[in-house]
Amino acid sequence: MSTDDPTTRLTAVQTKIAQAAALAGREPDGVTLIAVSKTRVAEEIEPLLRAGQRAFGENRVQEAQAKWPAFREAYPDLALHLVGQLQSNKADDAVAVFDAIHSVDRASLVSALARAMDKMDRRPACFVQVNIGDEAQKGGCTIDSLPALLADARAAGLPVAGLMAVPPADTEAAPYFALLAKIARDHGLDGLSMGMSGDYEVATMLGATHVRVGTALFGVRA
Ligand SMILES: *Cc1c(COP(=O)(O)O)cnc(C)c1O
Repeated sequence: MSTDDPTTRLTAVQTKIAQAAALAGREPDGVTLIAVSKTRVAEEIEPLLRAGQRAFGENRVQEAQAKWPAFREAYPDLALHLVGQLQSNKADDAVAVFDAIHSVDRASLVSALARAMDKMDRRPACFVQVNIGDEAQKGGCTIDSLPALLADARAAGLPVAGLMAVPPADTEAAPYFALLAKIARDHGLDGLSMGMSGDYEVATMLGATHVRVGTALFGVRA
C-alpha cells in the first residue's frame, strides 16, 4: 500500500489521535473520528468503511441523501454527522438522514428541528455551534447568545450533546479550542466537536470528543 492509500491515511490519523489523547491523559476511545466525506464519491468512501471507519460527516443534506442510503444497508452501524449549515426548511430531511447535527446555531432552527424530531420520531444528537472567533461570515451563535440558545434547545427537547466550533483560519487554534472547552464545562456539556485536518491533534489534547477530518483522510478536495 502506498502512503497516500486512504486506509494508510486512516491508520495514521488514528495513531496521531491516540498519541495526542495519551499526552493529555485521555483515553483514545473518548475521541470519535468523523471522516468528512463531502464532495467524495462512493469509490473514495468505501475503502474507509471496509477498514472499519463508521462515523462520516457531510455538509449538505441533498448530497447525504444521494450518497448514504446504499451504504446504510451494507453498514447498518455507520453514523452520519451533519457538519454544515442547515436551513430550517430542510430540518425534516436532515433529521431523517443524519444521526448527529453539529450546526444548531439559532432559535428558529431549534424550533424547526424540534418539530422535525417529533414528526419523524427520530432524535439525532445536537451540537450547538459557536462562532468562537466572532467572525462576520461564519456560522454559529455568538458567545453572548449561547446561554439563551442552549436554554431554548433544552426546553424544546433537543438532545444537546455539546458544542461545536470552527476557529478562525490562519491563526493558532489552541486558544479557541481551550475557550470552547471552558464554555462547554461552564454549561455542563461533555461533547466538544472541534479540530479539522490541520489541528485535530491540538483539539484532542484540549478535550475534543469529536474531530472532523476530511483532507488528511481523503486528500485535497478538488
Ligand atoms: C470540510 C469541513 C471539515 C473538514 O475539513 P478538512 O480541513 O478537510 O479536514 C470539518 N468541519 C467542517 C465544518 C467542514 O465544513
